[in-house]
Amino acid sequence: EKKVLAASAKDLTLSYDWFQTDSLITIVIYTKQKDMNAELVIVDCQDKRLRGEIIVDDHSYLVEVDLDHAVEEDLAVNIAEKVGKVEIILKKKDNIHWKMLGQPLESHNTFIKRTDRGLFYRKCKLVSKTEVTHDTKLFCLMLPKSTHLHVPTGQHVYLKQIIAGTEVVKPYTPVLSFLPLDFKEPSRSAGAHIYLMIKIYSCGLFTQALDHLQIGDYISVSNPEGNFKKSQVQTLEDLFLLAAGTGFTPMVKLLNFALTEVSHLRTVKLIFFNKTEDDILWRNQLEHLALKDERFEVQFVLSQPTKDWVGKQGKISSSLLSEFVKRSRKESKVLICICGPTPFTEQGVQYLKDLGYSQEEIHAFTA
Ligand code: FAD
Ligand code: NAD
Repeated sequence: EKKVLAASAKDLTLSYDWFQTDSLITIVIYTKQKDMNAELVIVDCQDKRLRGEIIVDDHSYLVEVDLDHAVEEDLAVNIAEKVGKVEIILKKKDNIHWKMLGQPLESHNTFIKRTDRGLFYRKCKLVSKTEVTHDTKLFCLMLPKSTHLHVPTGQHVYLKQIIAGTEVVKPYTPVLSFLPLDFKEPSRSAGAHIYLMIKIYSCGLFTQALDHLQIGDYISVSNPEGNFKKSQVQTLEDLFLLAAGTGFTPMVKLLNFALTEVSHLRTVKLIFFNKTEDDILWRNQLEHLALKDERFEVQFVLSQPTKDWVGKQGKISSSLLSEFVKRSRKESKVLICICGPTPFTEQGVQYLKDLGYSQEEIHAFTA
């Protein structure tokens, strides 16, 4: 009962308004959020159906209408970050006066828990597919012009395909187009494309179908999800990343964010577990980054190395971790992020706890 009351009380604090000129429709949402940003606004307009979602903590506010008249494909989103005002600007197809914004749809003007809002998908075009290793590819998907969506650091999206008549959905974590990025805010400039680094399994249901997509084909991509918060990184001094195989994917944006935007950061260390040398994702880029930025260090550990491998070998272990996750100063503020196959992540978290790291100092990426 308490939950319902809290939600409806919050309900009163969000509202929208709209106005028009000869050529434009502007929808204004007052969020009263102090640090509103582009990642918290997801807008789609398909045919005449407009869906605008605003994320406010763990809640989501939705404007969802069947527009009164047709609009052009490209839309704009303006955010006044300090006052929390969000504007969605649509271009009228015909310069006629609208009597109303449109017919409200089922979830219009609701403010509910994010987790209670079903996933929303839009079709994205596959624009390129490039080889990363013998079995892993970088897929570049283009969002429609009528979509405004930025995937936050540490979050994943779901891809959906119909395979043999059945809808199949799998999560993937967007990465950057390459490392290191030299500009400060990749999320804004890279908004229209989503890069996914995906391992194709020879018996994999979803990845086999994905590998068969042709350039120009479309695939459904969901809204972002995930419980990682950038604020966990903002005040860090030491960041330790433990990745195995494609568990590397959430580390990409995290690494970039930490190195470009965290002012007191002293060290970022990545320990990357793979089977063989050929499996290491973006090895050159990582080594290049380590040369370029003295705060960053990378170590590769192989579980099935060839005889000539001079680096570390084996799997995740307590002794390996105790050596790796040493604070740069006695009291340094640390975060240890871990991602990979479930047994890897579970073992890693246990070892870290045994080494005395607290729950707040560990973030495990899971489904
Ligand atoms: P499946 O048909 O499910 O099987 C794949 C292979 O693994 C097969 O060879 C199968 O035999 C074997 N297998 C399946 N299940 C198990 C199991 N439980 N134990 C052991 N072996 C098993 N993958 C990426 O490549 N890139 C990403 O960025 C990425 N992000 C992810 C984010 C999240 C939050 C999660 C949970 C997973 C992510 N994954 C990512 C994994 C991805 O969602 C799929 O699981 C993966 O692509 C395999 O899908 P598939 O249908 O092709 O394989
Ligand atoms: P892989 O089979 O190539 O193994 C890579 C390394 O992981 C191995 O060299 C080994 O060091 C370690 N490893 C594998 N199995 C282990 C075990 N049972 N115990 C301890 N260590 C083990 O890995 P892959 O095929 O690239 O798989 C990556 C995994 O990461 C997938 O299961 C995928 O679902 C998961 N993933 C999760 C997320 C997420 O939850 N956010 C994101 C990306 C990937």
